[in-house]
Amino acid sequence: MSYQMPKGTQDILPKDISKWHQLEDLIKQFCYVYDYQEIRTPIFEHTNVFKRGNDSSDMVNKEMYTFTLDNSSTSLTLRPEGTAGVARSFVENKMYGYSDLPVKLYYVGPQFRHERPQKGRQRIFNQFGIEVLGAKNPLLDVETIALGWSFVSALGLKDMKVLINTLGDDETRSAYRIALQNHFKNDIENMCGDCKRRYHQNPLRILDCKVDHELEIMKTAPKMSDYLTADSKAYFQQVLAGLDALDIPYEIDDRLVRGLDYYTHTVFEVVSVNEQMGSQSTVFAGGRYDGLVEYFGGPEMSGIGWAMGLERLILACEGEGIELGEDAALDAYVLCSNENLSLQAFKALTMIRAGGYRSDMDYLNRSFKAQFKSVDRKHATFAILIDEKVLEDGTITVKKIADKSQLIVKLEDVVDALDQMFEDDHDHHEE
Ligand code: ATP
Ligand code: MG
Repeated sequence: MSYQMPKGTQDILPKDISKWHQLEDLIKQFCYVYDYQEIRTPIFEHTNVFKRGNDSSDMVNKEMYTFTLDNSSTSLTLRPEGTAGVARSFVENKMYGYSDLPVKLYYVGPQFRHERPQKGRQRIFNQFGIEVLGAKNPLLDVETIALGWSFVSALGLKDMKVLINTLGDDETRSAYRIALQNHFKNDIENMCGDCKRRYHQNPLRILDCKVDHELEIMKTAPKMSDYLTADSKAYFQQVLAGLDALDIPYEIDDRLVRGLDYYTHTVFEVVSVNEQMGSQSTVFAGGRYDGLVEYFGGPEMSGIGWAMGLERLILACEGEGIELGEDAALDAYVLCSNENLSLQAFKALTMIRAGGYRSDMDYLNRSFKAQFKSVDRKHATFAILIDEKVLEDGTITVKKIADKSQLIVKLEDVVDALDQMFEDDHDHHEE
């Protein structure tokens, strides 16, 4: 019997973890500077947090991991996205009553979707997302895009493009929905099953179809921009003016409708145009939503947010030759010439660690030569050599690998010696 992880999942191994740490550190820094605070919501929620009435999205209809335990009638779902849980928490914890609105939140963590695994598409993947709840101001739409844009720019990504569109207000979408139904009326019979469902539930989503998108009838579909109310148009113009002011380049894509039903006004996708990305090229995407806070029993309040797939972000970095993370070297590796001295070595190691130095020793009683190989492999700055002398006069040798200089010190003075040698090294570099 052998065991393999489920399809579409991954182990993030120690050799790759420094990439993730680098991303997580940068996320913290950016959210700190932009004044967004972290929220951690449950990994599973009641199913109706995600499945809200007549939702037409694939994610809700086909991709959710939903389960009911034998002794319960409660249906639970592993979260497929972050926004719903955050909005639920915003209402449950009465954050709408905070004196400083909007509430600006971010999250990082796994999401679960049952889709066909391929490059850039997994069943468990990690998202960094932000949500701003409780204010409707085009500058916030700009701020959220700017946060994501400067984040990917800070990583060095250059092949990135902002695609943006507006879905307008309710009035806009009602008029547009009717126009789309009229347009597709005679052809819907020949379109895919999903489109047939969307035709009734939410015809806007037909435009997002990955099966039928080459059909002629798709290309001649009416444009949302012709149905925008004056208010919706003005709102969108202000968002675009904000992006212009910050020199964030964008392309208006009037076919962009996004996968979830709750969006209104601004929607956007930031894609990598790097050829290695294939069809999974959207790195982060989101938009403004109304009605979500109300759905969970809160007041009528607007929100805006996006989510970034971190695996896709890493692929985008790889595509552009950007190396993430680095394996920090050891400060010191402790060697002993004979296994009878291992307790002395262990004592020295413990003192070195208490001194804050990243350090390790051999636990396999290997030969001195083999231990020296570990010094190399772990890129240790110092080797701490312990031999019979430690029993004779209590001394050990602290050896700097780079220039082979060394100090002979009492075992209990090992941290002082390291402090001294690191300081000399530092001074040396500053000269
Ligand atoms: P797609 O059209 O690629 O299915 P989506 O519209 O379902 O994307 P969102 O729900 O907006 O995606 O999620 C935001 C981001 O999360 C995506 O832009 C992508 O980077 C990432 N993402 C979504 N689904 C997956 C997945 N199955 N595997 C890896 N990353 C994903
Ligand atoms: Mg999807």
